[in-house]
Amino acid sequence: MIASFFSGAHAFFSSAIWTTIQLSFLAFLVLLWLVSVRWVRRDAKARSIDRGQVRLATFLGAVPPFFGPLLYLLFRPPHTLADLHERELETRAIEVHLGSLVLSCPECQTAVRAEFLVCPACAARLKDACTGCGQPLDNNWNVCPFCAKVAPGLELEGHEVTDTRANGRETR
Ligand SMILES: [Zn+2]
Ligand SMILES: [Zn+2]
Repeated sequence: MIASFFSGAHAFFSSAIWTTIQLSFLAFLVLLWLVSVRWVRRDAKARSIDRGQVRLATFLGAVPPFFGPLLYLLFRPPHTLADLHERELETRAIEVHLGSLVLSCPECQTAVRAEFLVCPACAARLKDACTGCGQPLDNNWNVCPFCAKVAPGLELEGHEVTDTRANGRETR
């Protein structure tokens, strides 16, 4: 009875079916290993443009099998290149925004302050000074906001600065 069982088992394990199962399992492991190496290579490429680093990461992904990718996960660069690129774009957008707030001379692009009458670099006329108080006036201002004098050279006859302070007090 026992002898027949063993001979039966022996016949099974030495059969072609068992060999096929073993080979399939081996092939499956190899495939899994190749996929894991490929994943590490891809991930490394997304995180580094350094070919040496990508090669090293791929090697680590391959050896030791299956354990290598776990090691790689511990030591890989924290940010992908896409992340870094996005951050760079954001930084540049902020710089452009700030740049538009800084005034520059229309003639020579030198940075100038809002209160400058003349460009200190090329002497281009930037603003006119108020004839009443000498404060710099923006070109689109009709009245000096500092001394309430109507800007020179403007046809604003009959224009008067209206006093809204009394009205403001009444409504309060
Ligand atoms: Zn200038
Ligand atoms: Zn003024």
